[in-house]
Amino acid sequence: MARDTGAQCKQCRREGEKLYLKGARCFSDKCGVDRRSYPPGQHGLTRQKQSEYRLQLREKQKARRFYQILEKQFRTYYDTASRQQGVTGDNLLRLLERRFDNVLVRLGFAASRRQARQLIRHGHWTINGRRVDIPSFQVREGDVIAVSDKSSAKDIIKEATEMTAAVPAWLQADHDALTAQILRLPERGEIATPVQEQLIVELYSK
Ligand code: SF4
Repeated sequence: MARDTGAQCKQCRREGEKLYLKGARCFSDKCGVDRRSYPPGQHGLTRQKQSEYRLQLREKQKARRFYQILEKQFRTYYDTASRQQGVTGDNLLRLLERRFDNVLVRLGFAASRRQARQLIRHGHWTINGRRVDIPSFQVREGDVIAVSDKSSAKDIIKEATEMTAAVPAWLQADHDALTAQILRLPERGEIATPVQEQLIVELYSK
């Protein structure tokens, strides 16, 4: 599956805030945003003109980078969200939040979405007793997530759990047994994503 291979700290610096793409490093004094709080490139320190379009575009790029997905897939999520009942922006964030790789990060079972994706692709996780190796898999209410019995990554996963202060209320995690359950789908207020989704809706609605 294609993925964005650009330097991750540069992605945060471009968006002007921490997107937490590198696990433990993001909480250390080596964080790229903390060290150089201006955009990358030779014009990084030049003041950029802000237009409405530019704000909308940056917000969409930020969301894409936060969830580490490519443009085409992001657009597909938007199209699906716009066909669903309710507020399109909320629907979009809920679809992104329900991705299996994101859920592992929220549960504290992976230090970053990149690590979550690798663990999933290598078959270290099951959902409802069946191995699931698709990072974009959409979890549902009642799903039970567990590490595979034969997984050789339990130490790495345990290490990630030590960096997790809290798990959102729509999820329940057992960091000792490395199991979890989806209690319900998330409300907008429970989705800790640094994005103004309305700007994305405005961009795509043009
Ligand atoms: Fe972003 Fe993490 Fe790099 Fe900081 S260390 S700039 S939060 S990826």
